[in-house]
Amino acid sequence: MKKAVVTGAGGFIAGHLVVALKNRGYQVRAVDKKPLNQWYQVSEDVENLILDLNIKENCYRAANGYNEVFNLAADMGGMGFIETHKAECMLSVLINTHMLMAARDCGIERFFYASSACVYNGEKQTDPENPGLKEADAYPALAEDGYGWEKLFSERMCRHFMEDYGLIARVARFHNVYGPYGTYDGGREKAPAAICRKVIDKELYGNDEIVIWGDGHQTRSFMYIDDCIKGIIDIMYSTIEEPINLGSSEMVSVNQLVDIVEGIAGYKLTREYDPDAPKGVRGRNSENTLIKQYLGWEPSISLKEGLTSTYAWIREQMVKDKENSAKSAYPQKHTH
Ligand code: NAD
Repeated sequence: MKKAVVTGAGGFIAGHLVVALKNRGYQVRAVDKKPLNQWYQVSEDVENLILDLNIKENCYRAANGYNEVFNLAADMGGMGFIETHKAECMLSVLINTHMLMAARDCGIERFFYASSACVYNGEKQTDPENPGLKEADAYPALAEDGYGWEKLFSERMCRHFMEDYGLIARVARFHNVYGPYGTYDGGREKAPAAICRKVIDKELYGNDEIVIWGDGHQTRSFMYIDDCIKGIIDIMYSTIEEPINLGSSEMVSVNQLVDIVEGIAGYKLTREYDPDAPKGVRGRNSENTLIKQYLGWEPSISLKEGLTSTYAWIREQMVKDKENSAKSAYPQKHTH
């Protein structure tokens, strides 16, 4: 039986990964620093550990007795978060440093690291018609300040642990991932979830206006969670030794993203544009030649399909939130 440690398991992507590995018959140790009642998904028959992986001893506790590590823990969020919490994002370097040391010393055979499209050189992302970032475009380095530099450094550390200590390390550069059981409010959410929330807001609360960050012409690609999970597992057990893109190549502008979500809802909102809001690079897409060469596959679930289930899940949560806040508006009966 494979025994895998999944870090960041209380979060969005790793929560789905735990479920997928468990379904494949793995013994799973799920680790996160958040208390269990804040995890997006809690799986049964899994060892759930609450550990702050910035601390070296906790990383050894997490890795001990297991064979594989999927390291997805990081302090991160959408553009609104990473542009305003650069130091906090960079501190995630402690997690990867200590997890790599623990992997080396605890006899871990395979190590997966979740990197990001934010490692790419900003000067190669000034055109909204971006033809796609290929892996070599990370150098010469000019990564997203803070978060992207941490990811680039950590990628590099994986490479040298592989070269110097023989650890089998695999690195995927995720391009915007979305889906159910993710963050949709609170400031760390990313564009697809934020747009779904704003559109549902009209139905539930009558707010007709959507504020779009920037002019809405900036482009991105978005990968549905099921594609991301398949990619993580296939890359982990591949022979791919260099960091590789894991993203959709279906590029859309933020305006088009809003169009799709409005199409799912069946109504439109009034659009306002905020030129001063954080907006990130002008154009970004995933160039998938390498992954197709290695795996004969690329993420292919369409935005329309993925957003339909994401929208349904966020709507369900928001309806529950509304019902709960209506209940708490009534005076509570006190018992003594
Ligand atoms: P997430 O915020 O939902 O999950 C990350 C989890 O890591 C959180 O539950 C958090 O509590 C945990 N964590 C943070 N610091 C920790 C610590 N010191 N010790 C233990 N746990 C800690 O994020 P996600 O979207 O699921 O992202 C997972 C990984 O994928 C991250 O490494 C992220 O940088 C990377 N990534 C995500 C995207 C995306 O679009 N979601 C894109 C590129 C890269």
